[in-house]
Amino acid sequence: MLRPEGLYCPPGDFYIDPWAAVDHAVITHAHADHARRGHAHYLAAEPAAGVLRARLGAVDLRTMPYGAAVEHAGVRISFHPAGHVLGSAQVRLEYRGEVWVASGDYYVAGDHDDPREYNATCTPFEPVRCHCFITESTFGLPIYRWQPQAQVFADINAWWRNNAANGRPSLLMAYSFGKAQRILLGVDSSIGPIVVHGAVEPLNRAYRDAGIALPSTSIATGIDDKSLLQRALIVAPPSVHGSPWTRRFGDYSDAFASGWMQLRGARRRRAVDRGFVLSDHADWPGLQRAIAATGAHRVIVTHGYEAVMVRWLAEHGLQSGSFQTAYGTEEVDDESLAPATPEGASEMSASGSSS
Ligand SMILES: [Zn+2]
Ligand SMILES: [Zn+2]
Repeated sequence: MLRPEGLYCPPGDFYIDPWAAVDHAVITHAHADHARRGHAHYLAAEPAAGVLRARLGAVDLRTMPYGAAVEHAGVRISFHPAGHVLGSAQVRLEYRGEVWVASGDYYVAGDHDDPREYNATCTPFEPVRCHCFITESTFGLPIYRWQPQAQVFADINAWWRNNAANGRPSLLMAYSFGKAQRILLGVDSSIGPIVVHGAVEPLNRAYRDAGIALPSTSIATGIDDKSLLQRALIVAPPSVHGSPWTRRFGDYSDAFASGWMQLRGARRRRAVDRGFVLSDHADWPGLQRAIAATGAHRVIVTHGYEAVMVRWLAEHGLQSGSFQTAYGTEEVDDESLAPATPEGASEMSASGSSS
C-alpha cells in the first residue's frame, strides 16, 4: 500500500495524496503537502473544488459530495468530512467487503463531542466505521490538549482590542489557507478593520464562494491610511516574519497562531509578542476518540510522532504500524517550531496561550 509515490491502492490503481506525479490522485484536502501539482487526474470532495482551483489552477478535477460513492476498478471510493479545512475529507475505500479509511489531516478536539469546538469554516469530522484506519498524528503526544476555542478567540480579541486602544497594528501570523479563515470567522470584527496579506485573500474568496460568511477584508498593500492600520488586525502567513513587508506597519505587535504554540520554547524561538494555541489538527484526546469511533482493529499512523502513537495503540490491544510519508506540517514556516523528536517535545513544558 505504500509506494515511493505515496499511499497506493493496488486493486484500484490510484494513489491518495501522492507526493510524486501519478495518473490518478485521490486528494484529501488542498494543503500543499497533500495536493501537489502534476497529476493527470484529481478526485476530491466537492466543497474542496474552489480552494483546489485557487491553489492548483485548471487541473483535471472531478469532485463528489460527501457520502456519495464511485466505483473504480472494483474499489468503492467515498469522501467523508474531516473538519480540518474547507473541503477536507477522509477517504473510504471498500474492496470485497474490506473497508479502509485514510484520514488525511483531521480536526476533532477534546474527549467528548462538543459542537462549540467544531471548526466553523468547514463540515465537522464524521467518524467512519472501518477495518483499517490510516490516521494522522501531527499532535500525537499527551501534552497536546486544546483549550476551548471560545477562550482562544477571547484571548486574540483582547490582544487586538488592547493594541487598537494604544494605536498599534496587530499582526497575527497564521497559515494562509485554513487557519487564516478560521481566525477571520472567529474574531470580533467590531474591534477594528481587518487587513490581510495578498496570499490570504484568494483563499478568502474561495471560502466566501462556498458560503462561509467571513468578515470583509482588504489587502494590506492597498492601504495608505496609517490611522486605519493602527486599529487593524493584520492576518498574514508566517513567512512575512522579519521581512520588509512588515515595515509598512511601523510599531506593531506581532503574534503567531499555531498548535505548536503550546510549547513554551516555540514562541520564544520565533521571537513574537504572543503565541495563540490554535490548531486545525486533532489534539491527543481527539485522536484517541476519533480512532476509537472507527471501530478499526488495525491502525496505521502517519504524519508525526508515529512511534508514540503506535505504542499507545498496541497497549490498547490494536494492531498498529506506521507509514513514513512525505507529508510535512503544511505550515512550512512552522516546521522550525516543531520539536525534532517526541522526547524533545516532552522535555519542553506545555504552556497556555498567555504571553
Ligand atoms: Zn492539512
Ligand atoms: Zn498534512
